[in-house]
Amino acid sequence: MKKDYDYLIVGAGLFGSTFAWHARQAGKRCLVIDRRPHTGGGVHDRLIEGINVHEYGPHIFHTSDEGVWRLACRFVRFNRFRLHVKANYKGRIYSLPFNLNTFREMWGTATPEEARRTPVTVLTREYPAAYVPGGEAYYPVNDERNDKLYARYKALAGRETDVVFGGRLAEYRYYDMDRTMRSAMDAWERECRRKI
Ligand SMILES: Cc1cc2nc3c(=O)[nH]c(=O)nc-3n(C[C@H](O)[C@H](O)[C@H](O)COP(=O)(O)OP(=O)(O)OC[C@H]3O[C@@H](n4cnc5c(N)ncnc54)[C@H](O)[C@@H]3O)c2cc1C
Repeated sequence: MKKDYDYLIVGAGLFGSTFAWHARQAGKRCLVIDRRPHTGGGVHDRLIEGINVHEYGPHIFHTSDEGVWRLACRFVRFNRFRLHVKANYKGRIYSLPFNLNTFREMWGTATPEEARRTPVTVLTREYPAAYVPGGEAYYPVNDERNDKLYARYKALAGRETDVVFGGRLAEYRYYDMDRTMRSAMDAWERECRRKI
């Protein structure tokens, strides 16, 4: 049978993409598939009025891993990101954590309506939501029951000799973006050693 690909990579999130990129660099033929209509997984964003808006929640990239930083900089240009946490309390906007500015705001004029009138502001809301089948599984719930169930899946996965399991879904754990990339880079290195 004709072998068209060396790797079928299921999931075009950071883990799958990082793994695929390394495999391609090594001359491997990869097919990357995803059930979503876009690449990037949970990190995907789309442009709204010239502003990159995260489809699945805001993402802030930070790393102290030199290798991850160098890899990320090959593909994206970083802008200077500043996080301003605001609280909407009884219809008024306050800065967090509390500082002198907050006191000014307590007697000042910053209201949600004024914030909305700023021409290039995109307001997104992040709020807790229970998982419903078919919905987005944002975070793993690492309680005792789920961790035990995951351990059983992991044991089954361990029997597979030709499958690499990785990323937040396969490992059922929360990973920051840089840790996901690092884990894919390490997985690729293990794969190279295994194939020698
Ligand atoms: C709300 C939120 C906020 C976050 N904020 C930050 C942050 O500020 N900073 C930070 O460092 N990290 C943040 N993270 C974590 C970050 O999103 C993850 O580290 C990263 O997305 C993990 O990448 P991944 O490839 O493992 O998984 P994913 O990004 O989930 O990619 C997996 C892909 O596999 C696809 N897939 C799944 N099953 C199948 C299937 N059966 N067939 C085909 N395709 C399939 C999915 O559609 C998805 O595209 C945040 C996460 C969330 C949920």
